Amino acid sequence: MTVIPSRAQEKINVVASFSILGDFANNVGGDRVNITTLVGPDSDVHVYTPAPTDAKKIADAKLVIINGLGLEGWLPRLVQSSGGKAATVTATNGIAPRKLGSDADPHAWQSVANARIYVANIRDALIAADQAGAPTYRANADTYLAKLDALDREVRDAVAQIPEPRRKVISSHDAFGYFAAAYGIAFIAPQGVSTESEPSARDIAAIITQIRRAKIPAVFLENISDPRLMRRISAETGARIGGTLVSDSLTAENGNAPTYIDMVRHNIRALTSALN
Ligand code: ZN
Repeated sequence: MTVIPSRAQEKINVVASFSILGDFANNVGGDRVNITTLVGPDSDVHVYTPAPTDAKKIADAKLVIINGLGLEGWLPRLVQSSGGKAATVTATNGIAPRKLGSDADPHAWQSVANARIYVANIRDALIAADQAGAPTYRANADTYLAKLDALDREVRDAVAQIPEPRRKVISSHDAFGYFAAAYGIAFIAPQGVSTESEPSARDIAAIITQIRRAKIPAVFLENISDPRLMRRISAETGARIGGTLVSDSLTAENGNAPTYIDMVRHNIRALTSALN
C-alpha cells in the first residue's frame, strides 16, 4: 500500500476566554486548531486580570471565542489593545438570557441544552474562519452534540431519582440558574451572579433564615470560591456540606472535572448523593 503524505496542515490559532469554551472548541476543532485559554483551570473568569502575554495571544489568533452576557468585562479592552484582526464569536448567541434585575445571568453553559447552542456557534465560527475544515468541524460537532444529548438525559434521569421536596441547595454564587430552570433543582446563593461583590451581613442572615425555614438539606462549595462563608452557613444552620460544585471553570487535568462532560457528571453525582 502506498501512503500518500498529506501536506502539513497549518493549525489555526483560536483563543477561548475561559476553560469551558476551550473544551467546546477543542471538541469541535480537533487537530485543525491550536487553542489557548485565557482564564485557566479553577480560576474565576468574573474577576480575571489579563496577563501582559494575553494581548499577544489575541493578536496571533484568527478567532476569539467569548461567552458574552457580561461575563468577561475585562475582555473588550484587551481585544482593543491587542490590535489583532481576529473574528470574535459570542458563544451564547441565540440563547434567551436569564435576567436578574437589569443584569443578564452569564452562566448559560450550566444547562446542557444551552451547551448545544454554544457548540453550534463555535462550529459555525470555525467554519467561517477556516472553510477548508468545514467537513471536519461538522463531523466533530455532530459527534460531540450526540454526547451532549446523552448527557442531558443522564442529568434528567439523575434528578428524577431525588425526592421532590429535597431538590433545593445553597451554592456560593448564583451560577446555577440555568441548571435550575432546566432540571428543577432550586439553587439559592448568598452571592449574586458575579463574584465581584461580597455578600452583605444582611444577605447572609436572609439565607440562614431561608435555609432553616425551607429545610434546605445541603450547602455546596465551589471550585472557584473561598469555602469559608459556606462553612460558616453550614455550621449555623446544620445544613450539611454536600461537596464541591464545579461552576465557572474546569479543573486541572488531574482534577475531577477536566472537561465539560466531566463537570456536569461530577455536579450531578454531588447533588444526588447529598440530596437522596
Ligand atoms: Zn459565576
